[in-house]
Amino acid sequence: MSKGTPSKSGGKKTHIMCRRCGKHAFHVRKKRCASCGFGETAKLRSYNWTKHKA
Ligand SMILES: [Zn+2]
Repeated sequence: MSKGTPSKSGGKKTHIMCRRCGKHAFHVRKKRCASCGFGETAKLRSYNWTKHKA
């Protein structure tokens, strides 16, 4: 085993499944989703650098 994700710190998860976008991007301590912004903004988080329908 040389490649992969080494689990450094013991099992403390920082992100859980987001209720809104369903991605594993909801930050437990910050209480917001890194992907859709759930918990931070009422609207879907979007930036001009994010992939968007043209
Ligand atoms: Zn989300």
